[in-house]
Amino acid sequence: MNASLHAGNTGDPEAKPHPGTLSGMVGSATLLPAAPPAAAASRTVATHCPYCALQCGMTLHQDAAGRVRVAARDFPTNRGGLCQKGWTAADLLDHPHRLTTPLVRDSRLDPLRPASWEEALGRIATALRGLRDAHGPDSIAVFGGGLTNEKAYALGEFARVAVGTRFIDYNGRFCMSAAAAAGIRAFGIDRGLPFPLSDLGRARTLLLVGANPAETMPPLGRYLAAQRANGGTQIVVDPRATATARAATHHLQPTPGTDLALANGLLHLVITGGLADTDYLAARTTGFERVRRSVAGYWPARVERLTGVSVAELEATARALADRPALIITARGAEQHAKGVDTVTAWINLALALGLPGRPGSGYGCLTGQGNGQGGREHGQKADQLPGYRRLDDPAARAHVAAVWGVDPDTLPGPGVSAYELLDSLGGDRGGPRALLVFGSNPVVSAPRAARVERRLRALDLLVVADVVRSETAAQADVVLPVAQWAEEDGTMTNLEGRVIRRRALREPPPGVRTDLVVLADLAARLGPPGTWFDSDPAAVLAELRRASAGGPADYAGVTWERIDAQDGVFWPCPAPDRPDTPRLFADAFPTPDGRARMLPVDHRPVAEEVCARFPLYLTTGRVLAQYQSGAQTRRVAALTAAAGEPFVELHPDTAARLGVAEGDEVTVTSRRGRMRAPARLVATIRPDTVFAPFHWPGAGRANSLTVDALDPVSKMPEFKVCAVRVERAS
Ligand code: SF4
Repeated sequence: MNASLHAGNTGDPEAKPHPGTLSGMVGSATLLPAAPPAAAASRTVATHCPYCALQCGMTLHQDAAGRVRVAARDFPTNRGGLCQKGWTAADLLDHPHRLTTPLVRDSRLDPLRPASWEEALGRIATALRGLRDAHGPDSIAVFGGGLTNEKAYALGEFARVAVGTRFIDYNGRFCMSAAAAAGIRAFGIDRGLPFPLSDLGRARTLLLVGANPAETMPPLGRYLAAQRANGGTQIVVDPRATATARAATHHLQPTPGTDLALANGLLHLVITGGLADTDYLAARTTGFERVRRSVAGYWPARVERLTGVSVAELEATARALADRPALIITARGAEQHAKGVDTVTAWINLALALGLPGRPGSGYGCLTGQGNGQGGREHGQKADQLPGYRRLDDPAARAHVAAVWGVDPDTLPGPGVSAYELLDSLGGDRGGPRALLVFGSNPVVSAPRAARVERRLRALDLLVVADVVRSETAAQADVVLPVAQWAEEDGTMTNLEGRVIRRRALREPPPGVRTDLVVLADLAARLGPPGTWFDSDPAAVLAELRRASAGGPADYAGVTWERIDAQDGVFWPCPAPDRPDTPRLFADAFPTPDGRARMLPVDHRPVAEEVCARFPLYLTTGRVLAQYQSGAQTRRVAALTAAAGEPFVELHPDTAARLGVAEGDEVTVTSRRGRMRAPARLVATIRPDTVFAPFHWPGAGRANSLTVDALDPVSKMPEFKVCAVRVERAS
């Protein structure tokens, strides 16, 4: 989108010409008044839920009085279903907490006060220019969130061209990064599900590891029910007997943090039982021999000791997986660990030994969590990545993208650091970035070891947050920018299947509110060359994203609005408008240099923080049906707070009895890093050595006050899923 002042030097015939003078650009792209009040026109659009990665199809209708109604739409992913979050998604559009004017703080001791866009953006630009001049562009950092593909793309370009910083990452690092890294390592590509959801019903055996779609994406339950109704075996691996586990045909309840040993133990049984697909291994994989030797040490009795899963259950599971076609699917329970990449690799090894990937109703996949978690990690928000899932350290990739951006490849910064590393480094006192711009994320609630992250935010010279409500992170900001919601913008999203879909605007943003694309365009213009000119029209941004991604692993060159409309979404890679898209990957080959999947030996290791006398229980964190991520949006929806209005701590009744805790008692949960307080819920569905807390709430009920900041060495995924705690009845 940035033709910039260098466009003429690139030799790229498609690099956009400079559109005019700076003042002209500002006039067209940045100093537009906030959108006029929407005339209350009756209107209906087909769009998608803004929350999780299932991105259910829905119809939005605005009546003549301006009221908005949600109706479920028959789309392939949700087949006419929505969960409670989807049904109530429009409640936030006219919510009294909605931000409709910029806010600024005159000093750290002063409260936020309303300001004009001119004042707010002027203040940001002046501060950023000053920091850039005094300390260099790496003194400024950018942090993204669940944005549309176009916004994620624009944010990456904004950081690397308009600001010139290497410090950009996003909250998807906390969601999907372990499976993404393992997928690239094994298959050469990261697409959460390399097959359409309709494959689930075809599987004879479906193994779900650390996934609880009954709470996180309930309409997916239709596919799970269909698989069972077809006579399929469904096995859920989870330390808790979740709603998904209770509905399955079998439930394995391992000790938290032992999934890798479980996968290796199953592979041991598959090999020793003669259940491996030797033809497939010979033709389509490399590395099997090393893996075979490495899992020889995972004999059943040892795996039972490590995981708590009995030898009989292990043997039954191995036999079930050999009943092909079979699917192995992981989610956050397996992935949010300091060994998350190796754990996913172990499950992929098992899938490859069984000859599953690339066949209908068969394979390995991962359930992406947040809305557009897939597309958000493909187009430049990640610290090491350029659009199209190109690598920032690849000279050919840099040259390609720089030509589209109209800049010299040598001016593009190198890779930055991962989300937690970035947040933990903030502040001049650490020699890290002194300014942070946050778009659509709330790390004060969602980051691991959140109290420490809060302290780092306070160490900044400038914190800017663009959001729709005053989130806990926005409440700490020096400047808050009110931006459009999902029903007020066009764009594309990519769901958990790699299916690119359309978000359609029902109405204009309210007066005083601007889209993120307009904000980025304005800031780029104010920062001056080489960024200068950014497009704020989502259709134009998609056109540019298609060119930037062309030829990359996540190739969107053939993705157009018209094609999305015509075929209920387009599966990437899609290299040209007249070429087929790719609902199912790996049918003939893997996108690795030799076309084969790579098997790697991986070994079990303990969790980062083992239980001990002072902290004798495992804490695992997760989600509940009626809340979403940090809760900044869903905690404001009355129907959702009525369903799940406060934090809680799940304990086994035996554990509670030992601690003298009764149902509903306030308890404190303490780790080496902090403390939370919430009412106890006694449930026999959890292991006696484990407690569970959802992470949607701030303040005293913030589960991330406890979590450990150990990171996976490859993906930098934090170990959200297990740390050592003690529980006491609150005095
Ligand atoms: S399952 Fe996900 S996408 Fe579907 S309605 Fe619920 S939150 Fe929205």
